[in-house]
Amino acid sequence: MNNAADIPAREAMEFDVVIVGAGPAGLAAAIRLKQLAPDKSVVVVEKGSEVGAHILSGAVIDPVGLDGLVPEWRGENAPVRTAVSADRFYVLGSSGALRLPNAMLPPLMSNHGNFIVSLGDVCRYLAQKAEAHGVEIYPGFAAAEALFENGTLAGVATGDLGIGKDGHHKASFTRGMELRAKYTLLAEGARGSLSKVLIERFGLAQDRQPQKFGIGLKELWQVTPENFRSGLVQHTMGWPLGNRTGGGSFLYHFGDNLVVVGFVVHLNYQNPFLSPFEEFQRFKTHPLVRDTFSGGKRICYGARALTEGGWQSVPKLAFPGGVLIGCAAGFMNVPRIKGSHNAMLSGMLAAEHVAAALAAGRANDELTGYEQAWRGSPIGRDLWRVRNAKPLWSKLGTVAGVALGGFDMWTNTLGFSLLGTLAHGKPDSATLKPAAQCRPIVYQKPDGKLTFDRLSSVYLSNTNHEEDQPVHLIVRDPSLQKSSEHDVYAGPSARYCPAGVYEWVEEGGNPRYVINAQNCVHCKTCDIKDPNRNITWVPPEGGGGPNYPNM
Ligand SMILES: Cc1cc2nc3c(=O)[nH]c(=O)nc-3n(C[C@H](O)[C@H](O)[C@H](O)COP(=O)(O)OP(=O)(O)OC[C@H]3O[C@@H](n4cnc5c(N)ncnc54)[C@H](O)[C@@H]3O)c2cc1C
Ligand code: SF4
Repeated sequence: MNNAADIPAREAMEFDVVIVGAGPAGLAAAIRLKQLAPDKSVVVVEKGSEVGAHILSGAVIDPVGLDGLVPEWRGENAPVRTAVSADRFYVLGSSGALRLPNAMLPPLMSNHGNFIVSLGDVCRYLAQKAEAHGVEIYPGFAAAEALFENGTLAGVATGDLGIGKDGHHKASFTRGMELRAKYTLLAEGARGSLSKVLIERFGLAQDRQPQKFGIGLKELWQVTPENFRSGLVQHTMGWPLGNRTGGGSFLYHFGDNLVVVGFVVHLNYQNPFLSPFEEFQRFKTHPLVRDTFSGGKRICYGARALTEGGWQSVPKLAFPGGVLIGCAAGFMNVPRIKGSHNAMLSGMLAAEHVAAALAAGRANDELTGYEQAWRGSPIGRDLWRVRNAKPLWSKLGTVAGVALGGFDMWTNTLGFSLLGTLAHGKPDSATLKPAAQCRPIVYQKPDGKLTFDRLSSVYLSNTNHEEDQPVHLIVRDPSLQKSSEHDVYAGPSARYCPAGVYEWVEEGGNPRYVINAQNCVHCKTCDIKDPNRNITWVPPEGGGGPNYPNM
């Protein structure tokens, strides 16, 4: 057993480009780099046990990214097989549903020409393409630390392995590796842990609106053939959420009798008694959807945060030695409920600027061209037209906000807006009201057939962490958790966490905060929503976390 004092130095490897995260953004960047500069060395690190293990999305994808990157996909056996055949949008009441005619919706919301996929499977396909181009992919390795040299990002270090819960070095202790690079691309997705550090360090979010987030929960069902409508895409808003809470559902039929059902709750909700997980379970009992699942089997569950700030909240993307791409930068289009196309397009755009810089013999400088290019690119055009939808929803509630947001998207489609660019207001950590000002919400017990509890759900995410390791959910000030999170806000972490990680356990009249870190599905909601910003998510040992087969 070693002490921290005898810690050996890390070994270092040099690359032209290091990419953190094998999602659509990171893989698209890696492929484009090799297409443009085959002789440059490119490595991708991925914290999931394999590519796709931590990917959770809807997903209806706009194929514009794939078409630009690997146009041959249409002639191959790519996992993009179910074309959208019907597209429905409903406003729900507690028992009724009002279908909005497609002609009323802004054309940008149409799903004609899009495909229903498992984004995890698409990433596995892209990883094969990347490896065929000579990209090195290291799954099971979390980038835990940013490396700096003379104020410039010089690469990342993977986390040490084999550290016990109490900090001691076990017999299996292995030092992390330094992956040094001329340019480092952060492709960690929504609320990336290193991206957050870099945004702070380089002041990238100065003069921007705060980033906004939602939490998306998802189940995958195998349904009976009579309940299956291949290619059907259905979205709802309204019930079970009240008018002041933003969010909605998605339900997609694809593949071999598979139905994806999911629910998004905007993380600027105010009532600390609200549980996104329970709202999702409640949603499935609505008469519009419940029969879809009768006789079916739930086969997977998971959750992940998504970015919602859009145009106003995208931070400065370039800093000395690196850039942000994909949802680490916040390129999600909320009304379209799509971000994977922009993730890929931003990876490709960044790669073009990196390749040009390398060709010019540059290294570790700031890729200002990428920063200057995105707003005028298809990504910028995609986000510009919808920029007021989220702020209007937050300010005016679902009924008036979505109606006015729809009107604004129409005018933007015609080339103008009467509203300019609206602000988002407070960050999501600041929107909870004290519990004393809110109504407790009573949720029904699950029936085990259509509705479920958290723990049986987490089981279906195949989440696995080495148990004897330091807790990767860092509570900066434990006393604040008691005096504020518990005493003022009635312990919202026990409700917003979709995996039952946080619990307040009463012991002799004293509440004790319990963190079941091994259940964490890496959604990042606690890092976003804690009312005191007292919780920081850091990567656990690489390979830990969910093992989504096809989410
Ligand atoms: C519920 C839900 C539904 C959605 N529906 C749709 C949809 O229908 N259509 C659509 O187009 N988009 C949809 N999106 C958005 C879409 O999933 C994202 O825009 C897209 O996945 C972003 O890609 P990315 O590569 O930036 O990040 P991600 O897909 O999040 O990938 C990031 C990768 O980086 C890895 N990683 C993170 N940090 C580290 C680290 N420090 N070290 C190593 N690896 C790391 C992660 O494990 C992950 O594999 C949805 C999102 C959610 C949550
Ligand atoms: S602990 Fe945090 S990141 Fe992990 S599942 Fe719960 S809310 Fe998500």
